Amino acid sequence: MDDPRSPAAPGRRAFIKGFGLAAAGAVTLGAGAEAVDAVVGSGNPPSSAMAVPIAGPWRPGSAHVDVVWGVDTAQKLVALTFDDGPMHNWTPMVHDILDAERVKATFFLVGERLVRHARLVHGRMDRHEAGNHTWQHQDLSRLSDERALEQLRRAHNAIGRIVGKEPRLLRPPFGHLGGTTLSAACRFEYDIALWSIKMLEKTYEDDPPALVDYIVGNTGPGTILLAHDTGHHDRLVALRNLVPMIRGLRAKGFEFVTVSELMSASQAPPRPPGDVGLRRAAPPA
Ligand SMILES: [Zn+2]
Repeated sequence: MDDPRSPAAPGRRAFIKGFGLAAAGAVTLGAGAEAVDAVVGSGNPPSSAMAVPIAGPWRPGSAHVDVVWGVDTAQKLVALTFDDGPMHNWTPMVHDILDAERVKATFFLVGERLVRHARLVHGRMDRHEAGNHTWQHQDLSRLSDERALEQLRRAHNAIGRIVGKEPRLLRPPFGHLGGTTLSAACRFEYDIALWSIKMLEKTYEDDPPALVDYIVGNTGPGTILLAHDTGHHDRLVALRNLVPMIRGLRAKGFEFVTVSELMSASQAPPRPPGDVGLRRAAPPA
């Protein structure tokens, strides 16, 4: 396979196909041998790795990666996202709710879990989007270029093989961005999808109606909403109250779309002179 870091490397599509060939063996070797729950920054190098991983000419194919927290749009569109699955009990519960409510969502899948629990998503992803959440939920910002690529490649190939859709988005675990996060995402032609509002399960664990009010009241056009379909028990409060959230948002006129569909609806307005783009968050004092 061509060295992806060579300036003579082929276009990115060919590059990804090359990855696919190498991945089959890697998955076989690695299956079951590594813990899914990697420790943050487990002894790996540069926490400040450069986003240009080679000394020679850097020509990854496309010259940019988009990083989105949400989307500028006047349309009442919202993207519901679930991270860290698939996992027993949790993921089927989410799918049952989304099916019953006829809601689209985006699942940011952990590759190793997907391989282990492939049957949980079989036949259930038709109208949903599948994004890459790395092979082992690793903090990409703390990995070398080579290891970051490996984390994305193995998950990318598992998602393509099991879900039947090639991912277009990366959600970096913990929302951590580093140089290797960006350069690795670029080589897969990914955009990076963060979020604009998340379930505050710990805050509202004992007051589910307040969690529903918080989500429904703070969702606007173009919001990306973060939830999880596995994790600590307290996260169940969000999943158990998905139905009132969905119905509350629909009552306000919102339509549920995938993150890629939301990005397609982006209608960034022209900025007036002096506006640096901090339109939703307060500027720093
Ligand atoms: Zn995660």
